[in-house]
Amino acid sequence: MGNLVADLRAIAGPAHVLADPDVVAGYATDWTRRYTGSASCVVSPGTTAQIAEAIQACAGYGARVIPQGGNTGLVGGSIPPAQSDGADCVILSTKRLTALCPVDPRSRQVTAGAGVTIARLADHAAAAGLRYGVDLASRDSATVGGTIATNAGGIHTIRYGPTRSQVAGLIAVLADGSVVGSLSGLTAGSTGFDLAQLLVGSEGTLAVITEARLALRPPEPAAAVLIAGTTGIAAATELLAHIREVIPDLLAAEYIDAAGLALVRDVAGLAPPTADPHEGYLLVEIAATAGVPDPDAYLQRLDTVGLPADTVVALDANAMAALWSYRERITEAIATIGMPHKIDVAVPIPALGAFCADLEGVVRDAVHGHGNSEPRLIVFGHLGVGNLHVNVLGPDPADTGVDEAVARLAASHGGSVAAEHGIGRAKTGWLAFSSLAADVDAMRSIKTALDPAGLLNPGVLFPPEIQQQRATTRTV
Ligand SMILES: Cc1cc2nc3c(=O)[nH]c(=O)nc-3n(C[C@H](O)[C@H](O)[C@H](O)COP(=O)(O)OP(=O)(O)OC[C@H]3O[C@@H](n4cnc5c(N)ncnc54)[C@H](O)[C@@H]3O)c2cc1C
Repeated sequence: MGNLVADLRAIAGPAHVLADPDVVAGYATDWTRRYTGSASCVVSPGTTAQIAEAIQACAGYGARVIPQGGNTGLVGGSIPPAQSDGADCVILSTKRLTALCPVDPRSRQVTAGAGVTIARLADHAAAAGLRYGVDLASRDSATVGGTIATNAGGIHTIRYGPTRSQVAGLIAVLADGSVVGSLSGLTAGSTGFDLAQLLVGSEGTLAVITEARLALRPPEPAAAVLIAGTTGIAAATELLAHIREVIPDLLAAEYIDAAGLALVRDVAGLAPPTADPHEGYLLVEIAATAGVPDPDAYLQRLDTVGLPADTVVALDANAMAALWSYRERITEAIATIGMPHKIDVAVPIPALGAFCADLEGVVRDAVHGHGNSEPRLIVFGHLGVGNLHVNVLGPDPADTGVDEAVARLAASHGGSVAAEHGIGRAKTGWLAFSSLAADVDAMRSIKTALDPAGLLNPGVLFPPEIQQQRATTRTV
């Protein structure tokens, strides 16, 4: 390994290869602290060409490459495997790829380095009078490359779609060091496979993304934010449907259950959002659009949907931010009480009520079946796109019984085992619950064609024992 470190230092510069084990350990542990691995060094190349050289150098030594952006991923995809297959791992950080080109107002596009954070990209777009469509609570650290590699969603997915919908092109380095892609930003194009879209959601297993051409949107300020108490998620989905009938332009539609709201209030010292306690809370952000002249018009429309009497509607920026804090601070609040099992799933909106009705029993059975004490269950998420984050506290972090049970439950309701965080290392065994075996086989063929030696992010995304999983795979 000594020679590889020396070679990487020659490529990226001595200051940009870290080999001190204590420093490397910080990069090899994920945000949740649930996943940790070991790597020989961290390399931070400054250009696409250096990345290509670094990958070729790693390949020459048989070392694996683990692409890492902001390391805010929640499924262990950005860190090396816990158990080595004998090969060294090198973490390839994109933190020096921070170039941000001027916004082009004619195409409403911008080119950003993979290491640019979402917060910086959003500020850059706003300074040009535009907006980036993806926003998430990890915005200060999560990067352009990481959000593309995971097809991140976030609070505005209901309005602008996930990261996939923002990508107009990219540059990436494949496992053999070749550089592919384009930053032309052409939306008209009919020249075969769309490599940029293939790499969206590939979780660092096919290529290292180095730059991206991203679509921007006209600004849409929020006209109002409301929080309404409901009798649970089924009632929240009904209420949301009524709101959408009279106000189609929603920027966000989020759900927080009573346990989540109580926790965030406790940890963040927040007052109750509504006069009465409720089993669930629907938070809706309404866009100020040309069709509706003033805030009163929104209030009149909302009057027709039968909102609970203690619904709170905020019309000014401070009051809106105060309502958002119940939702924005929840992930941090959960992290203060332990290491949760975080299960990000998508369920068709009409099935959300049935899914949540089954959830408590499924979690209890899974936890007790493994001899654990009473679990603490918190559910919140992006209701408008059927994306829930199921958090379970209590079971040992290494015991994945409850994660698997919840993933199976989502799949049994026609859902997906991963909505926006990806599969990572955490969910490889459950990919086949919601994906056809033929789909997984096709993905594996692409992986093998582009990375025959398994150099990039081994152990991420693909189930290790695909044959065994077929027994539980859904059929067409
Ligand atoms: C408080 C909090 C809130 C969050 N909220 C949301 C949310 O609302 N929506 C959501 O979708 N996610 C959310 N996340 C999860 C996380 O922020 C996203 O998954 C994000 O996309 C990860 O970006 P990153 O730069 O941190 O990537 P990392 O965590 O570094 O990496 C994630 C994956 O992408 C790969 N990767 C990273 N960079 C590259 C690259 N340049 N080329 C190829 N592969 C690469 C890694 O190998 C890994 O597999 C949240 C996380 C936290 C901590």
